[in-house]
Amino acid sequence: MDFKLSAEDTKFRDELREFLSKEWSSRDFDAHSMNVWSYDFDNLDAREHAKEFQNKLMEKGWWTMSWPEEYGGQNAPISKQLVYSEEMAYNDAPAGQPQGNVAGAIMIHGTDWLKKNFLPGMQDNSIDWAQGFSEPNAGTDLASLQTRGVEDGDDYVVTGQKIWSSGSHFANWYHVMVRTDPDAPKHRGITYLVMQLKDENGDQMPGITLRPLYDMLGRRRWNEVFMDEVRVPKRQLIGEPNRGWYAAMTTLNFERTGIESAARLIGVLDRFIATMSKTKFNGESVLDNPLVRHQLADARITLEADRMLAYRVAWMQAKGEVPQAEGAISGLRALQTAKFVFWPTLAKIIGPYRSLLKGEERAPGNGMYGTNYALSMTTGFGGGGGLALGPNIIAQRGLGLPR
Ligand SMILES: Cc1cc2nc3c(=O)[nH]c(=O)nc-3n(C[C@H](O)[C@H](O)[C@H](O)COP(=O)(O)OP(=O)(O)OC[C@H]3O[C@@H](n4cnc5c(N)ncnc54)[C@H](O)[C@@H]3O)c2cc1C
Repeated sequence: MDFKLSAEDTKFRDELREFLSKEWSSRDFDAHSMNVWSYDFDNLDAREHAKEFQNKLMEKGWWTMSWPEEYGGQNAPISKQLVYSEEMAYNDAPAGQPQGNVAGAIMIHGTDWLKKNFLPGMQDNSIDWAQGFSEPNAGTDLASLQTRGVEDGDDYVVTGQKIWSSGSHFANWYHVMVRTDPDAPKHRGITYLVMQLKDENGDQMPGITLRPLYDMLGRRRWNEVFMDEVRVPKRQLIGEPNRGWYAAMTTLNFERTGIESAARLIGVLDRFIATMSKTKFNGESVLDNPLVRHQLADARITLEADRMLAYRVAWMQAKGEVPQAEGAISGLRALQTAKFVFWPTLAKIIGPYRSLLKGEERAPGNGMYGTNYALSMTTGFGGGGGLALGPNIIAQRGLGLPR
């Protein structure tokens, strides 16, 4: 393994750093999250600010740099993508497309019609996607989903309920798994569709009803999505009928890599240390406390180890290998570190101040540390329950243990 950046990648990194220092500021928005775009989640000004920055990424040609050239991307080498992800993540810059992971499934499994009609809208950021996989009785056990899709002429008629659809009140399109063959074994009767949620005027499409779900800080983060006889043309199918499970797993695999996680938290840690260096609790400088210094050093060491694991995954990908077990280890570590090490460490250091939220005078980091500690409780559930499923994947694909 050689983790040293090439001269070309180093030059690109320097260019990115200069660009970010000029063009990106999170202003007073809370720009951090597992998905940056979800921060200040229900704040329309924050979303607008993110989109303005994303337009600049498009002007630079970086927005879809990782896409194959035939779809308008640059087929950027893995090392360049890694540098890009890390620099953006370190600065909490909103470089990722919300639910943009469906692009991979469309490129790999989609028809020419799907590619022609959906990839350009992702390139110019005009499509806002939501993901409709989870149901009240199908979370980690996703293949138990019950939403029905019944063939009727050129359409599927879809009826059922989804839950936890992040940001679906902003979305105009939905990628959604439905059961089309109730008699087949559960993984084999599922079809993967794209469904319009809003029309051109921003009105909800016929048969669609959203019911808001709020996170523990009161932000509207998800919705339950009810579908009542929604007609979806068959040309909007990704992959083959009843083989949707496999196409949808392509989407989840793109979601689960999360190579930039360590860089993102290292950025938070550096900014946290800068804030704490100017902070006193009970008249004493926070960083003068040796216990605090040890806790911060431990967190940094953990993050560096995670970063090396992520680099290893990228290095294997660059050689054309498929790092299934290694990717699962790296992904699982990223979740464990965030949930069990990183945010609890910061929360412990700021103690009761963590309950002060944005806008409150004494809230460290304008409330972002306390907020993210609270929200880290959900880490590991999103993305299909990675914290629960990661060990299973490692056991089966890494250690060769039976299912
Ligand atoms: C922030 C966030 C965003 C989300 N966004 C979306 C979205 O946009 N679209 C979408 O479709 N869904 C979304 N989800 C839902 C997410 O995919 C589900 O929460 C996840 O699949 C887990 O399902 P569940 O919540 O029903 O928990 P359950 O499956 O009921 O699991 C409950 C508990 O049992 C444990 N468990 C379950 N099965 C196993 C197993 N086999 N081995 C070991 N332990 C197990 C789990 O660890 C968990 O602690 C989101 C969730 C979160 C938290």
